[in-house]
Amino acid sequence: METEEKDIVTVDEIREAVAAIKAERPAYTELLDFFEKLFLAQEGAKGRVQLEPIQISEELLLIKRKESLPLINRGDFAIDIKASETLIREICRLAMVTNELLAEASNKLAEALDRGMLEVALFSKILSEDETDLEKAAQELKIDKKILAFFVYSSIRPSLCLCAEQLATYLDNDGPWKRGYCPICGSPPALSILRDDGERSLVCSFCGHEWHAQRIFCPFCENKDYKTLHYFFSEEEKGYRVDVCDACKKYLKTVDTTGMKHPIY
Ligand SMILES: [Zn+2]
Ligand SMILES: [Zn+2]
Repeated sequence: METEEKDIVTVDEIREAVAAIKAERPAYTELLDFFEKLFLAQEGAKGRVQLEPIQISEELLLIKRKESLPLINRGDFAIDIKASETLIREICRLAMVTNELLAEASNKLAEALDRGMLEVALFSKILSEDETDLEKAAQELKIDKKILAFFVYSSIRPSLCLCAEQLATYLDNDGPWKRGYCPICGSPPALSILRDDGERSLVCSFCGHEWHAQRIFCPFCENKDYKTLHYFFSEEEKGYRVDVCDACKKYLKTVDTTGMKHPIY
């Protein structure tokens, strides 16, 4: 799909886009600074990640395509543990100067890393939807579970994205993907994007893969009845809206990039 188009995010583009939001919403400066540095660190980490390509046999691929199944499960992603460990230390350094909550957690985490108390296995264990290991680690390190998950997930994200890019070569891209989940890993979308050309794409909440989707369609229950699909937006921020489905009551954030110079999502 439009992977090539999507993946060309340069460091300058990230900086420019963040500067544009800071100008519009100065109240978010502190967190934006953190996320800008985090994105840049993740982009930088991609250059260090080394992964063996995931192979899918022709036979299996035929079944996946016929049944519209995702290519892999979350647990099947390949993770570069060494690159993730380097990145989590970098994220700790960035978080230490952001706000009290993040500083406290990152101090504890950095200390645990120095003492070898954070099992590196957690990097791959977080792939599974079973949170037992994460809960155990959070208790041992006395760090909020959500914050710990955020740090660990952020540090494996470059591996996930690179894996998803490699796997995307297996997708057949004849028209929009008809299912609501990510064609690579089966996770739900985190975001919907509308483009100038009237096309809609969805972005995976887990691997970051972006796929071409039907325009009138709820990805959570696959409802296609326009009468039960609505959206809300605020007058000040017309480019950002929330799509709501009456059938399943779920909602999805949408960015309409039409006419936006620096769409942010
Ligand atoms: Zn995915
Ligand atoms: Zn729905």
